[in-house]
Amino acid sequence: MLQQLWGFLSLIYPLVSSANSSLPNIVLIFGDDLGFGDLGCYGHPSSLTPNLDRLAADGLRFTDFYSANSLCSPSRAALLTGRYPVRSGIYPGVFYPGSRGGLPHNETTIAEILKEQGYATAMVGKWHLGYGANGEFLPIYHGFDNFMGVPYSHDQGPCQNLICFPPDTKCYGGCDQRHVLLPLFVNDGIIQQPVSFPDLTAFYNNFAHDFITKAVKDNQPFFLYHASHHTHYPQFAGKSYTGKSLRGPFGNALAEFDGSVGKIVQALKENGVEKSTFVFFTADNGPETLRKSRGGNSGLLKCGKGTTYEGGMREPAIAYWPGKIPPGVTHELASTLDLLPTIAALANAKLPSVPLDGFDMQDILFNGPKGKSKRNTMFFYPSSPSKILGVFAVRHGKYKAHFYTQGSSHSEFTPDPACNFSIFPTFHYPPLLYDLQTDPSENYNLLIGSTAKKYATILRQIELEKATFQMNMQFAESQINKGEDLSLEPCYNPQCTPRPSCCRST
Ligand code: MG
Repeated sequence: MLQQLWGFLSLIYPLVSSANSSLPNIVLIFGDDLGFGDLGCYGHPSSLTPNLDRLAADGLRFTDFYSANSLCSPSRAALLTGRYPVRSGIYPGVFYPGSRGGLPHNETTIAEILKEQGYATAMVGKWHLGYGANGEFLPIYHGFDNFMGVPYSHDQGPCQNLICFPPDTKCYGGCDQRHVLLPLFVNDGIIQQPVSFPDLTAFYNNFAHDFITKAVKDNQPFFLYHASHHTHYPQFAGKSYTGKSLRGPFGNALAEFDGSVGKIVQALKENGVEKSTFVFFTADNGPETLRKSRGGNSGLLKCGKGTTYEGGMREPAIAYWPGKIPPGVTHELASTLDLLPTIAALANAKLPSVPLDGFDMQDILFNGPKGKSKRNTMFFYPSSPSKILGVFAVRHGKYKAHFYTQGSSHSEFTPDPACNFSIFPTFHYPPLLYDLQTDPSENYNLLIGSTAKKYATILRQIELEKATFQMNMQFAESQINKGEDLSLEPCYNPQCTPRPSCCRST
């Protein structure tokens, strides 16, 4: 009987094994508050990004790639679920260390889809989709077998206690003083509080390297989601990157991030899986110009983080898969929303049976200059969306119409007054209409003057698309409006007093 069972298992095992080994590995690399103009390969004159530049040269660089929201938490929800964040309740704004809510467990993430297909899954870096009671929303409860990172932004803790290099590094701001010191997690346990920032990137690099090596050794396809804290405020870098960039603290942080990208690609090469791995890089939202030269740069795009102008929403993006993705540049319309359906298709996985907002991008990826997008529109909600105001702007083909515009505190200090915090939601009818191919900076409204009537048809079409989209959009209950309970914040010694200062590992 045992012999028969063994015979049967040895017959089916090679089938299972070869099925798994034919599935591509997936590496998703996500920057933070990184603008369209920040990388060397997107034109920045003093950024040091040799590894990302090489991926762009040997891979596919996108010129018209969009995040689904201009803030961290909603953008990350959209990336991992393929759905506009209002559908999952990730609005308004972002999660805090003591937020009661988080990414709902009935949402299906890319990690969960891939885990079903036999992938080893890991996340390293910034989560920012909730912590909740006893860490109930951590990545390990959303499909990631392994997690090393901080569950939220690294300015959501007292800045003066961030251990930076050199030790007297100034954060140029107060960060958020009311919270516990920044915790570093492995899975659901805190291993360090406060995080030692000079060592953090090296920890992450080793974690990613070990994860890739183990999965390959186990003959298991893998999914690595590397969400860097770089280049969000406050900027930091380890010893080997401090003072290295002509661009100052932001440039050092960006160079360290770029170094991690190089280490990941090196780990793929070392393990012989570079040609069987789909690598995708992008970032969550535009630059925080509030930080002046210590923040990012949206290049020729208007405004930045927190706005629905191009500078808040359009991101650098690179797809890399040597031998599969022809090197080049694509002007096709695409979004973080498209990654879930694309990755699901690559992994022969079923799509979750919920309304999805993404499209399979394989035609763009694999068909060189002939590759076409299935996406013709992109809808832009503000950072605090409401059913009443609805969609603020619509990209349709090469056109973009703004029905509402609003400034943001994150986008202060650009020379353009439209970006300022003092600009409240302003209704436009007719909307402001721009041709983003001839005017990517959104400077010249097409609906002014004698030629305006030329655009009547396109305007009607956009209005129809917007009305249909909004009619079918279901807002989930807000997870962020569930509020905060400071006693839920992660603490190395949960019973200690006085909080939050007692929450430390040393
Ligand atoms: Mg961000």
